[in-house]
Amino acid sequence: MDLKEYEGKRLLATRMPLVSQGLVTSSPDEVEAYAREQGVVVVKAQVLTGGRGKAGGVKLAKRSCEARKHAEDILGMDIKGHFVEEVLVSPGVAIDQEWYFSIVFDRAERTYSVIFSTEGGVDIELVAEATPEKVIRFPLNPKEGLTPLIAEDIVRRAGLDRRFVVDVVAVLCSSWGLLVDKDLTLIEINPLVSTKEGDVVVLDAKVSVDDAALFRQAEFGEMQSQKESAEEALARENGFTFVPLDGDVGIIGNGAGLVMATMDAVKAAGGEPANFLDIGGGAQAKTVKNALALLRGNPKIRSILVNVFGGITRGDEVARGLLAAIAEQPLSVPLTIRLTGTRAKEGLALLEAGGLEVSGTMDRAAALAVAGK
Ligand code: GDP
Ligand code: MN
Repeated sequence: MDLKEYEGKRLLATRMPLVSQGLVTSSPDEVEAYAREQGVVVVKAQVLTGGRGKAGGVKLAKRSCEARKHAEDILGMDIKGHFVEEVLVSPGVAIDQEWYFSIVFDRAERTYSVIFSTEGGVDIELVAEATPEKVIRFPLNPKEGLTPLIAEDIVRRAGLDRRFVVDVVAVLCSSWGLLVDKDLTLIEINPLVSTKEGDVVVLDAKVSVDDAALFRQAEFGEMQSQKESAEEALARENGFTFVPLDGDVGIIGNGAGLVMATMDAVKAAGGEPANFLDIGGGAQAKTVKNALALLRGNPKIRSILVNVFGGITRGDEVARGLLAAIAEQPLSVPLTIRLTGTRAKEGLALLEAGGLEVSGTMDRAAALAVAGK
């Protein structure tokens, strides 16, 4: 789960002193009032994507009326497909130098890596391409972590001005502590800056939390339930893997591989999947019923395809679940079912007796589902 800038900064501020924070609001009036008190401010779009600055989503204002105007312009903007519903307004910082710092879960190195560069504030990938020697990348030994000694070595190798070493090392080490304690998979601070007054300040933050650890990180659990849609909440409660997509053929299957193959079959038949929905192994009738309930709420769906390969999952359980769901509330779109494997014969008999359309092969079922809409 990704945190918005202000959420990430609140978290960082629990461990380090100089994190630029401020007011989060969707009201230009409040932005103006804040700016009247603060003087120079920066107004920043709060969306889960980078490059807001370039897109016009980060603007400095010297006067309160200007801040208001920026807020009005930024609210409602579309930044790379993300609609801006709120802005963060913070005291404007007089920047001297801009640096890049992150701790990332580095799959290639199979550990966490620290990345640091004195060329911050810009796209770090571009810096790494043009001047790779300016980007220090250091894979951590997870048992040892990021110690002050290692952090100091990293920032010195990056050529950081000596004046700032102590403060920057503190930011790096506090970040590591936070990452471990809160089960984070990413902390990226770009830019970390020095101000004209000589302070080291966190100006931007991108923080990601390991979804698999949310069960033991209560504070994020609450955040997650606010971020997710009704469909996503239903999927999580049922232990489904669910990804909404753009098409109109709803898909339910058991096992990620089978669901992906089903999506391919739908595409091959000329259709577009409306979702990925994996109900997992050993599904009970109730699970199947809940899966259908999840798709029911989507008005874009014009046809539903259920594809179950019974291993641990029993065909008759699947059939009972589907029939129970429909008995409770008839579907408004056609339903096509492909069922094979354990107790498929019993399942198919139940479904046919219930008047549902079944098919023996996946391709045939996909064709029916696509034609049926
Ligand atoms: P991003 O573009 O989404 O990464 O948003 P950032 O928060 O990193 O802001 C983009 C750029 O805006 C930064 O690299 C800074 O150069 C500039 N910026 C952000 N806040 C301030 C500020 O308080 N004062 C000044 N002078 N510039 C700022
Ligand atoms: Mn940034």
